Formats: sequence, structure tokens, C-alpha cells
Amino acid sequence: MTFAAGEPAMLFPAIEHRHRDLRNYPHGVAFMDGQYLPMWEAKVSVLDWGFLHSDATYDTVHVWNGRFFRLDLHVDRFFRGMEKLRMKLPYSRAEIESVLSTCVALSGHKSAYVEMICTRGGSPTFSRDPRQAENRFIAFAVPFGSVANKEQLERGLHVAISNTVRISPKSVDPAIKNYHWLDLVKGLFDAYDYGAETALIVDTNDNIAEGPGFNVFTVKHSSLKTPSYRVLPGITRQTVFYLCHELNLSVTACDVNRDELKSADEVFITSTAGGIMSVTKVDDNSIGNGKVGSVTRRLTDLYWQKHTDPEWSTLISYE
Ligand SMILES: *Cc1c(COP(=O)(O)O)cnc(C)c1O
Repeated sequence: MTFAAGEPAMLFPAIEHRHRDLRNYPHGVAFMDGQYLPMWEAKVSVLDWGFLHSDATYDTVHVWNGRFFRLDLHVDRFFRGMEKLRMKLPYSRAEIESVLSTCVALSGHKSAYVEMICTRGGSPTFSRDPRQAENRFIAFAVPFGSVANKEQLERGLHVAISNTVRISPKSVDPAIKNYHWLDLVKGLFDAYDYGAETALIVDTNDNIAEGPGFNVFTVKHSSLKTPSYRVLPGITRQTVFYLCHELNLSVTACDVNRDELKSADEVFITSTAGGIMSVTKVDDNSIGNGKVGSVTRRLTDLYWQKHTDPEWSTLISYE
């Protein structure tokens, strides 16, 4: 393509404009390579194996009304993931917790989505040997984000079950929170093609596994079930186990097939990004009476109440 004189200059303002929009969104603070940065300046090298090979682990914790929710469990899972992937950082657990708090405090957000990431990084000598890589730590705090928007939370989500099979635990350990998302993203496109809002994908036996960044539960005669195979053991999922105990509800981690999901009294999904979120339609079946169910509601209310419990939350100092 050729440009007449003057044309590139005319193209420029449009490009500049787009960059300016990206600059301010989302508003947040990151920490990388030893320093705090505005979110838009936190950029990773295209040579980082985290980018080139999805060779990374991460965790996401949220902040609600100025308090981290279950920070210790998220940091535990992050450290377990790094150990399994043989990654090492020059930061202690206490230092990482302090970096996360500082990102939130500098951002000023009272409700935030906070991510900690360890990538393989790269080798200074371009060695292909992952043992030679210098691992990279990145953290950031941005405004709180949810899988479901306000309207979807009130009426319940429409989920489609995709035929996409979740990657085998023999290939990628699902307990390591990771960016192997091609199966989940394919599931999402299948769901959109179907006219649904999000997706669940299956395991090799065609049982339900999980969705893009969330676990799933069914409620039948006040008993709960959640898949146990090929899923990330979510911290919100674990929290639901505790809440069920408190509410005297029975809950089992076991296989859940398509029919059980479609004929359940209630269905909900769980994620740090949004908490407990009702599903009122699976494929073209309405769940229960098509409204947010009473067990889901009780669990959701207790879940949000726990956000001020000092045993489950950590106050952030914004000074
Ligand atoms: C993060 C994640 C979840 C949900 O886990 P939480 O700890 O509850 O946020 C579920 N599935 C996958 C694949 C995830 O990455």
C-alpha cells in the first residue's frame, strides 16, 4: 500500500487516539522488575516464555471494601504452582503479600482484582534450557471484575455445554493455575455460537469439567455436587464447601454428567472474579423455575458476609 504525501499524518491522530484510550484503562498499579508502575506501563518482553510458551503460573485474589479475601489460600496455591513448575523467585511470601498490598494501596481501589504471576522469563544467553531461565514476577491491582455483570447476577446466566474436552491432567496439572486456555476459549466461542453467555467444557468421559475461569455446582434436593476431575480446585469452590458445612448442606466432589446438570434444581458457578453466580439456563433447558434458587441465594449472602470476617479477610492500609 502506498500513501500520498500527507496521508500518514492524517492516519496518525486516529492511532494516537486509540493509544490514549488504552492508557487510562484499566486504572491500576503493577509491580514488575522490582518497581511499581502505572498499569499501562507494565509490559512484558515478547521473548518471555510466559508469553511464547504459556510457561507461567498465576493466582488472582480479590479485594472487597478494602480487605483481601482469603489471601493466604491464594498465596499458598501460587507457591505450590511455582514449586511444581520448578520456578523460583527472589521474594519471600511476606514480601509478595506486601507487594500485593502496595499495588492495591497505590491504586486506591477499595474493590480490586489482584493478580500475581510468575513467568519462566528467559535465558540471558538465549539458551533453550528452562533451567537457565531467570523467572519473572509480576503483580497488579485493577478494578474488581466479574464473570457475570449485574443484570446476569440478578437473573442467572445462560450457559452452554461445549463438546470441547478439558486438557488432560496427564498433560497439564490442573492444580497449577495456568494460561493453557485454548480449550476454554474454544468452549466460549461454541457457547456464543449457540447463543449462550458462557461455557462449560467436559472431561474425556463427557462429564462436566469447568468453564473459563470458574467451577460449577449443582443443587438437587438440597444436596450439592461439583466436578472433581480435570478441574482447577478453585478457592471459591473450597469456600463453598466451608459455607455448606456452616449451613448444614451436604456437598460432594464427584462426576457430574450433562443430564444431572440440566435437571438440577439449581446450578451456580464459582470464581474469585464474581464469587457465587447463579445459572438459570443450560443449553435450552431452564433450571428449576428459571430464577435464582434459594440455596444459591443463601450461599451467596453468607459468602459476601464473610468478607468482613477477620478470619477470612485481611485489612489493607491505604496510607
Ligand atoms: C481460577 C480458575 C477457577 C476458579 O478458581 P478460584 O480460585 O475460585 O478463583 C476455575 N477454573 C480455572 C480454569 C481457573 O483458572
